[in-house]
Amino acid sequence: MTTSNTLNLLHGIIQEVNDAPNLKRALAVIVCRVKQAIAADVCSVYLNNSEQQEYILMATDGLCRDAVGKVRLPMGHGLIGVVSERAEPLNLSEAATHPQYVLTSETGEIGYHGFLGVPIIQHRKVLGVLVMRRRKSLCFADQDVTFVMTLAAQLAGAITHAKASGELKRLQNQKDLNNKFFQGQPGSNGIAIGNLLVVYPLADLNAVPDHPVEDLEAEITTFKNALARAYADLDALAKRTKGWLSDEDQALFDAWKLMLQSDILSEDVIQRIHNGNWAQGALRETIHEHALIFEEMEDPYLRERARDIRDLGQRILMHLQDNVQTREYPQQTILAGEDLSASQLADVPRERLVGVISTTGSKSSHVAILAYGMGVPAVMGVTNLPLGRMDGLEVILDGHHGRIYIMPTPGEREEYQRLANADRALVESLDVLQGLPSCTLDNHPLPLYLNIGLASESHPMMGIEEASGVGLYRTEVPFMIRDRFPSEEEQIDEYRRILTLFHPKPVTFRTLDIGGDKSLPYFPINESNPFLGWRGIRISLDHPELFLTQVRAIMQAAIGLDNARILLPMISTLEEVDEALELIKRAYQELLEDHILFAMPKIGVMVEVPAAVYQVEAIAKRVDFLSIGTNDLTQYLLAVDRNNREVASLYDDLHPAVLRAINQILVGAIKQNCEVSVCGEMAGNPMAAILLLGMGITSLSMNANSILPVKAVIRAFALGQARELLKRALNCDFAAQVHKLLENALESEGLGVLVR
Ligand code: PEP
Ligand code: MG
Repeated sequence: MTTSNTLNLLHGIIQEVNDAPNLKRALAVIVCRVKQAIAADVCSVYLNNSEQQEYILMATDGLCRDAVGKVRLPMGHGLIGVVSERAEPLNLSEAATHPQYVLTSETGEIGYHGFLGVPIIQHRKVLGVLVMRRRKSLCFADQDVTFVMTLAAQLAGAITHAKASGELKRLQNQKDLNNKFFQGQPGSNGIAIGNLLVVYPLADLNAVPDHPVEDLEAEITTFKNALARAYADLDALAKRTKGWLSDEDQALFDAWKLMLQSDILSEDVIQRIHNGNWAQGALRETIHEHALIFEEMEDPYLRERARDIRDLGQRILMHLQDNVQTREYPQQTILAGEDLSASQLADVPRERLVGVISTTGSKSSHVAILAYGMGVPAVMGVTNLPLGRMDGLEVILDGHHGRIYIMPTPGEREEYQRLANADRALVESLDVLQGLPSCTLDNHPLPLYLNIGLASESHPMMGIEEASGVGLYRTEVPFMIRDRFPSEEEQIDEYRRILTLFHPKPVTFRTLDIGGDKSLPYFPINESNPFLGWRGIRISLDHPELFLTQVRAIMQAAIGLDNARILLPMISTLEEVDEALELIKRAYQELLEDHILFAMPKIGVMVEVPAAVYQVEAIAKRVDFLSIGTNDLTQYLLAVDRNNREVASLYDDLHPAVLRAINQILVGAIKQNCEVSVCGEMAGNPMAAILLLGMGITSLSMNANSILPVKAVIRAFALGQARELLKRALNCDFAAQVHKLLENALESEGLGVLVR
């Protein structure tokens, strides 16, 4: 096979497996395609059933089909056991000569000699084994082995997804409902019980979820109109391209138009609408089914027609989505999606939003931080959630453990209601701290500031009274919720609103920090490595017109109030600091020249890139304050994408390397007599707050929900105790030791509940 043939083949198989509606179909596709691809006489797949400690034959092409689901081998048994336990391929010319070979006669395996077993692995766990057999006594060629390994490495995700879809069906059939949950990662603490509202990208047929039909006749009319408009489009396109497209290509339009007119397609969709699915879902299912028929054909020309059918489906969908009215949010909305954005969250009326689920991302993603800031529980990175079939279902979301329970039993609902009440009781128990100063047992003050900005203005601001001011206002949101850059006047209005709300307390405006996982719909940035790309200050300096507008807006908003501070994100060189300071001075001068008189705001730099850690003294000399962005600093120090669920378990801001870097920042800043705050999520973690106190931090800035738990911890320790704990933490080799040390410390002060 040539490289491009192999790639096409791999992509084709993976696509088909991904599109399979259930596990059975996915496995049938795998065994059939793999057997063809490497010219084996048999291909079978065994999946591990860890509950019963056995391998089950799940699909076969070549052996006796009656054995499927019946042949069960004890774990560790036979050649499947060898492949599964070693997690490595096994390639034999004569299977029977291997000491662990066991003949399973029910499969009709007699007469085969060559054997290739390849493990299917996901997250270090063997899910099953692909087994190829051949009649000849001959090993499989190296390129066959690597082909199957390459495929197997990508099949794991599709298999777990298909398995999960099957699981959901089973749950929907009300069988075996007890204690079944989908596992993700805790994104924001708390329990939510509500109904799912699935948001999905438009113009992607595969992403369309099922949804019950509300008005049958209206739905059918909508579909027929979309069909007619798709037809008119194609007709116009055919006319426009006449003369410069070949007759053969022109004929394709006729074929598509015929398909649109044929009753087969539209009747199938309408039947599905009658069965209760809305037009978009009915179209997705129909197109999928028709495309599969073509995909299974031997003739490559006919197989290609599957693509035409999918293209047609896409066209009809476009017209259907033109017509969608805004969807109604359930009373208790749990918003779910593949890659939720901050503005999608902000779109939900605050009083209806009770939970957030994202199939991607981790707790350091901005969506999770936003949910936490709003006091809304969230579960991130739930890999296998079959979102397409879940719209409207009742779920329990356990943000403490990162679990989702679909259609809970009355027992589960009762249990989780009890836990939600306990959460509420904990929050209420901290209310006694309201109004008390944030200082240690020996009266050392540690002011606590608020992080705001991710939530839209429709969300009420919490913690105004408790906080000493705003330590981080992420100014991205006024930029994100518009369809163009906000004008200077619009920015002045927004910033002045916040400055007035907090006056006379200071408000720290971080200048525009887009890029990474925060993009503006009207300013797309396409990069293969966005977190290492055009982000934060880099964009501002490349677009001084945007930066100057923002800085002028902050300065004018503060006239007469004088409580604004400016913070520069993503600084990695001194040149950036100097250039930004130059521009800020220019903006100040311009306003003075216009006879607008006010005090120059204090300027700070975010230390969130490792380079800034090593130049901290030089930076501190140039500015009034530093603010440590531990969210980014952790991702850059540990080389762990904060948004990637695959590596989320490696992301830990209590990693000894992160602690040492932060300590180094403080040592440098203190030498230069420069104030230092922490505004990353670490500041709101009661355990970490003790260490930061020990390091001599000037203040902490966090989401409103964290203020009282952090205050509780600060008030329970003396500065000397914090320094002692810090000394011990800095001597730890492992993050787990740091966690244990701090958990024990909080436990011994009766605050264990804050870390459980
Ligand atoms: C940080 O990186 O710690 C930070 C506060 O900024 P953001 O999370 O917005 O990147
Ligand atoms: Mg940051």
